[in-house]
Amino acid sequence: MGKLTNKTALVTGSSRGIGRAVAQRLAAEGALVAVHYGSNEEAAKETLRLIEGDGGRGFLVRAALGVPGDTHELFLGLERGLKERTGEASLDILVNNAGAQTAAGLAPEEVTTEEFDHLFAVNTRAPFFIVQRALGLLSDGGRIINVSSGTTRVAVPDQVAYAMSKGALEQITPHFARHLAPRGITVNTIALGITDNGSPVFDVPEIVEQMAQFSAFKRVGTAGEVADVVTFLASEDARWITGAFIDASGGTMLG
Ligand code: NAP
Repeated sequence: MGKLTNKTALVTGSSRGIGRAVAQRLAAEGALVAVHYGSNEEAAKETLRLIEGDGGRGFLVRAALGVPGDTHELFLGLERGLKERTGEASLDILVNNAGAQTAAGLAPEEVTTEEFDHLFAVNTRAPFFIVQRALGLLSDGGRIINVSSGTTRVAVPDQVAYAMSKGALEQITPHFARHLAPRGITVNTIALGITDNGSPVFDVPEIVEQMAQFSAFKRVGTAGEVADVVTFLASEDARWITGAFIDASGGTMLG
């Protein structure tokens, strides 16, 4: 028996990167996982293949986030997938992982209103309305985990708009934690440092070496390390943690 046997989970943005590792890990603990993706269907299918290869269960849900109708489309697919496999549309674990990032080196002077609006639409508005829509599906004792960034605590001027959108995302945590506590639903934020998400930059040793210097451990994080923390928060073991900001950045910029 895994820690999440008979649980259902939605991991937004699990076609690749950190979301994929989270989806794999939750499934390995026994959860039926909705693997959400925006555009990269092949990658999402690969996530599902990896889950099933480990003996886990999942299904795909496509929905571009940050555009009109996004939440509706997401929940149509989610509810259909859950009903087909379990007979009901009940959700135990919601991981708001999908995120848009600022193009590297975007100075504050260069942020356009379009870029700003896109970051807030994907990183802030979509998770808020996903949580709102999930309220009717979430089981008592459920879990909401919001994936944020250490840039809400450390000044990185080139990431100001992204950090603002994640700072607003973090507000979901305390307010909904209090709102949902009577149902035993916990709501937490996990803030990440630089984490290898499989993108090409992590294949360049000199760049990885530079990025590693921000962590107290002098290395970049792995998606699996983040998935371990998310899985803990999703488990019964974390029932007494709610409204929390959890730094899972490998001690980024501790001083
Ligand atoms: P990633 O590799 O770029 O993957 C992003 C995921 O989100 C993909 O599955 C992508 O799906 C989905 N996604 C992005 N925009 C979307 C949209 N508009 N609509 C629907 N889906 C969308 O990202 P990651 O590095 O794993 O990051 C995961 C989370 O951790 C993000 O919230 C990010 O801000 C946060 N984070 C990451 C780091 C890091 O160093 N990696 C550091 C701090 C925080 P498709 O490709 O299918 O569209």
